[in-house]
Amino acid sequence: GSLRFASSFKAADLTIERNTAGKPKPDPASLVFGKQFSDHMLTIYWSEKEGWKVPQIKPFQNLSLHPATSALHYSIELFEGMKAFRGVDNHIRLFRPNLNMERMHRTADRSCLPLFDKVELLECIRKLVEVDQDWVPYSLDASLYIRPTYIGIEPSLGVSRASQALLFCIVGPVGPYFTTGAFSPVSLLADPSYVRAWRGGVGAYKMGGNYGPTIAVQNEAIKQGCQQVLWLYGEQEEITEVGTMNLFIYWTNEGGERELLTPPLDGIILPGVTRQSLLDLAREWGEFKVTERTMGMKELLGALDSGRITEVFGAGTACVVCPVGSLLYKGKTYQIPTMQNGPDLAKRFHKELTDMQYGRKQSEWAPLV
Ligand code: PMP
Repeated sequence: GSLRFASSFKAADLTIERNTAGKPKPDPASLVFGKQFSDHMLTIYWSEKEGWKVPQIKPFQNLSLHPATSALHYSIELFEGMKAFRGVDNHIRLFRPNLNMERMHRTADRSCLPLFDKVELLECIRKLVEVDQDWVPYSLDASLYIRPTYIGIEPSLGVSRASQALLFCIVGPVGPYFTTGAFSPVSLLADPSYVRAWRGGVGAYKMGGNYGPTIAVQNEAIKQGCQQVLWLYGEQEEITEVGTMNLFIYWTNEGGERELLTPPLDGIILPGVTRQSLLDLAREWGEFKVTERTMGMKELLGALDSGRITEVFGAGTACVVCPVGSLLYKGKTYQIPTMQNGPDLAKRFHKELTDMQYGRKQSEWAPLV
């Protein structure tokens, strides 16, 4: 597959066809995640025969796909999730978008889809956001969600590398994760009989195939009165991640030290941009120990029992951080005192990141569009 590596599209070749029939923008207060889309989209086609076509920004429209399209049958499909924010100064910013581009590039490689120049893709996406800039909500708790997507469009049923591919990007306004304006804690179902990913598998990649099978388990969590799933793994029932968030535990460890702990990037969790950012910040602060290691349910429940757990929270693009209030495990509900403890650390992380995203604090992590 040398052609996969041969070249990249170039942002300088972008063609732009403006939508002359723009839709009205929704009220930021009424936004439902993932249901509203802007007026334009980015598409970039590739084929083994002709290589990359020029990137196009054009009116938002349906795709036309052959029924044998490999993405539909074998899930040769991957995506990213990132946001653009309208700041206090009315300028639009992204948040560490290069990390999303790197993750997308790694996932494309694992999917046998043609590789591309990450800088060129980011520039195409930046241009799309610029064209749809009025779709970035005029709000300090809403944002424009950006969904780069990459699919194999091989029109045949052979289980093999796609000789045709489509990289596209759609964007749409999203509201605040916490609609009440304040943190509200989530309850988690931790059931070791379900597994999201495994060592040697593809859990570290943002492939559609990792997400479809989680919906039934998410529904099970709701049925049992929980809001999200805490995914466990293996004999030790290692805690891995929560729904579409990475997991953090702020506690006093067995040695009596204050510690922020999160599972390591050992192939079974998604390397979150938010996760990386919290680790970077915490290490820069240097106020407590920061550790990436696995923790089993037994250790977690033991520490909870002895009152050494201060805060448990998820971290992801959707919410930045999301406090965890309780855990349903083997029929028993365990309360976690995250909210009783502020949650001071979760709030501090939330403020730090949103200050950068909304331009209240200048940062290299939040480049202007
Ligand atoms: N884990 C999973 C499974 C996810 O889908 C996401 C969302 N991309 C995350 C963690 C958090 O990653 P990020 O901070 O990059 O949004």
